[in-house]
Amino acid sequence: MKVSLFLDVETPITFRDQPGIQSAVLYTEINLCNLNCYHCHNRHGYNEYKGKKEKLSYKKLKEKLLMLKALGVELIIISGGEPTLEKKLEEGLRFIRSLGFSVRVDTNGTNPEVIQRLIEKKVVNGFALDIKIPLKVRYTPQELKRFKRVLFSTEDVDDEAVLNYSEKLMTSLEIIKKNPLQYTVFRTVEYPLLLEEDKNEIRKLLEFSPHQFNPFYPVEEE
Ligand code: SF4
Repeated sequence: MKVSLFLDVETPITFRDQPGIQSAVLYTEINLCNLNCYHCHNRHGYNEYKGKKEKLSYKKLKEKLLMLKALGVELIIISGGEPTLEKKLEEGLRFIRSLGFSVRVDTNGTNPEVIQRLIEKKVVNGFALDIKIPLKVRYTPQELKRFKRVLFSTEDVDDEAVLNYSEKLMTSLEIIKKNPLQYTVFRTVEYPLLLEEDKNEIRKLLEFSPHQFNPFYPVEEE
């Protein structure tokens, strides 16, 4: 049977990730991401999955999902890596929804076109959107230094890379705001590089909605 885009690894069940809802997490390829965030919580959190490439067949995926359904899981959370970079994402979401689940896609927000398409095609019930830095059209040199390290783990990238991130995120945020979905959440990892003023700007940007800092665990100093 056809191979899906989801890694053949353990599937954690959680009440915490989408508060109050029994959810299970499927992973796309952990290394497939267009950012390289400071202490990437996905790569560090799932170290043992980093090199994994084996994917579930749709047959095995169906068996897994039916077992999760029997355990009372209602929501399937898609994490990665960056799921919106996966070519088969839409096909995978349709498959999961065809078995009666709701689906949330966890994204870094850099692919607004994909977010828009998933909403238009009605294959998603929410997003977890990570807002990693304040979103602006221009930054001070000090901010650029800090935010390059947050997004790319180095200062050795063009200023454009941060500006481009910000522009894409503003577009994704607008799309998601205009299309309220049941399971959408906004999150920020409290990177040690972020100053209190950065965090306040992020809070202000998201004051229209519940927003969590550090939903899982604090990121350590390197
Ligand atoms: S966007 Fe997520 S997966 Fe990608 S580098 Fe950052 S923390 Fe890691």
